[in-house]
Formats: sequence, C-alpha cells, structure tokens
Amino acid sequence: MSATSRDYYELLGVDRDADETAIKKAFRRLARELHPDVSDAPDAEGRFREVTEAYEVLSNSETRALYDRYGHDGLRSGGFAPTQFDMANLGDLFSMFFGGDVFGGGGGTRAARGADVGAQVEIDLAQAASGVTIPVPFDVAVTCRTCGGDGVEPGTQPTPCPRCEGSGRLQQVSRSVFGEFVRTQACPQCGGRGQLVEHPCKTCDGAGRVIEQRELSVDIPAGIHDGQRIRLSGEGHAGVLGGRAGDVYVLVHVKPDPRFVREGNDIFSQVDLTIAQAALGVTIDVDTLDGSVELELPAGVQPGEVRVLRGKGMPVLQGFGRGDHRVLVNVRVPRRLSDEQRSLLQRFEAASDEHTYADDESFFDKLKNAFRAAG
Ligand SMILES: [Zn+2]
Ligand SMILES: [Zn+2]
Repeated sequence: MSATSRDYYELLGVDRDADETAIKKAFRRLARELHPDVSDAPDAEGRFREVTEAYEVLSNSETRALYDRYGHDGLRSGGFAPTQFDMANLGDLFSMFFGGDVFGGGGGTRAARGADVGAQVEIDLAQAASGVTIPVPFDVAVTCRTCGGDGVEPGTQPTPCPRCEGSGRLQQVSRSVFGEFVRTQACPQCGGRGQLVEHPCKTCDGAGRVIEQRELSVDIPAGIHDGQRIRLSGEGHAGVLGGRAGDVYVLVHVKPDPRFVREGNDIFSQVDLTIAQAALGVTIDVDTLDGSVELELPAGVQPGEVRVLRGKGMPVLQGFGRGDHRVLVNVRVPRRLSDEQRSLLQRFEAASDEHTYADDESFFDKLKNAFRAAG
C-alpha cells in the first residue's frame, strides 16, 4: 500500500528534471529532518514514510519513468509497492539507501587490522658500520590454531545475540549543535560479533588469538643510527576476524664504542702522544672501523691537530660512500717525575729557547704552565 497520493517531486522539493544526485541529496536532508526519533512534529513518521516512498520511486529509473508517464495509477498497475520498513530498524534502511557509512560510526562485525608490535635490538658500532643480520625475539598475538580465530570451542555453536538480533550493531540517535546523528555502535552484549559464545575455545579463552614468542632474522642496514626503527610489514599482532596483521617496529640501539665518537657519518677518535713522541715524531697504530691503520705523525705535531682519514667513517645509510674518520692529536704531560726525569727536563728546558717552540706561542704557554704545576 502506498503511503501517499501526493506528488513525489513536490514531496522531495526537487524539479521534475532533477538528476539522481539532487534527488539523493534532497532525500538525505529530509530524512535527517523528519527522522521520527529526532523530530518533535506529531506527523513526522507519516511524512518520513512519504518522502522515503518518493525517494524509492524517483531513485529507480524504471519506476520513475512509470510515474512520470502515468502517475500513481501507473505505479499501482505496474505492481509497484513501496518497501514496508520497520521504524525500529531505520539504520538498516539508511544503509540500504546510502551504503553503510552514511551516518558514520563503525559496525563491530568488521574485520580489524592487528596492532603493531614494538621490539628492540642492540648492536655495536662495528655491526652498524658493516650491517648485520640479527635474530630479534618478540611476543606477538597469532590466530588461535584450535578455533581458527573465531574463539568457539570446536564442536560447539555460538547462538545469535538477542540484544542486536545478530547484527552486531545498535543504532542510537543523538542531537548536537551540528544537527541530528544516527550513531551506529558495536553491540555491547556481544562485542559487535552478533553472536554469543557459550563454549569459548579452551586454548585461547575465546579470544581467537594467543600470544606467541616469535623470532625473526632482521637485516640491519649498514650506516644505521642509534634510535632508528625498522618496520617488518605484516609481522605484528594478528588481525581480528580476518583483518590483516599489524607491523613490527624494531628499535635499533647502537651501543657506544669507547674508542670512537660518532657524529652523523663521521667518526672521531683521539691519539695520546708523549711529549717526546710529539717532539720527535712517531708512527702509531690507530683503531678504525676497518681495524688498525698506521698513522705517521711528524716531529713537532701539536696537540689539537686533526688528521683526516678519508672514507674511514660510517657508511651512508641507504646511500653511497662513507664519512671520514678524524683523529685528534693529544699530548700527555707527565704528572709524576723521578729525580732523574726532573733533572733531565730541567736540563732540556735550560737548553731551550724561543726557537725551540717557534710558530706556536700558545703551545709554549701551555707547556710552561704544565712544568710549573709539576715542579
Ligand atoms: Zn581458540
Ligand atoms: Zn549483540
């Protein structure tokens, strides 16, 4: 039975040549306005049914053509009957017209992506320089093998939820300053599943997932910096109801190496020379990321001088080339002198003049202060 004999275009407030989009838009606006749960007007439900019928006819090209040519009589003789809908299930009606998301909110029965997992790994600087493949253990929720993830003990059946009648969703209409909204929310009784599980799976207590310790070999690229993360796509917690798994984020700690200071891709280290080595010149072994190299320092090398070993620093992460290794020269001043050493240094000092220290006044000053403190 038709709910109205009024003109459908008039009811929706659109022109006779209105297109599909305009008709849909008009209906959506009126439906929100006249929704019996939010409208105070006593005839709201009747008018709501009228505009719904008008929309139903005009949104279908066949019934619209019939109506355009022959009016209400044409529809009747063509066998058209408007959908009889239950006012309690308006949300379903709206979903039918507009698709599931018209009023926002989520149904609970939908698949959900699994959560991400954080894991940590510690490597040393040499491993960061060369790159390394390392086992990383972490705890992860995986789909329960006993029940296949539905949480139901094998051999038993879940029963439909009486509160949501198996749909998993409940509709709620609320008013706000922005207008009226029908909110769809997951049914609290069944958690959105639409079913009640009387015999939960014993392996997972009905959760559908169990925690497992897993270990993956992770390729850590050369040049990685302390605190960077590596993403292992799809290796995280299992999804719910067939949703895809989350990711694993591996936080990489690069242990500091007491021999080196890293700054970006450059490495800094220090060599300690005795006064005699600095004055006489020396060839010494210097530790680098590639192992020991010989470094030749000429007579008269000064503290604070820097020697650059090109390309001996850290590799550029996901790039080309390497940083440099910078060696800082330090000269150690004796702190405790035997009588013999003291007299030798006193004789050395007496035999020295400005020429001995030419070109470096500041070093001369430092050395003089050092001798004063020791004496
Ligand atoms: Zn299970
Ligand atoms: Zn329910």
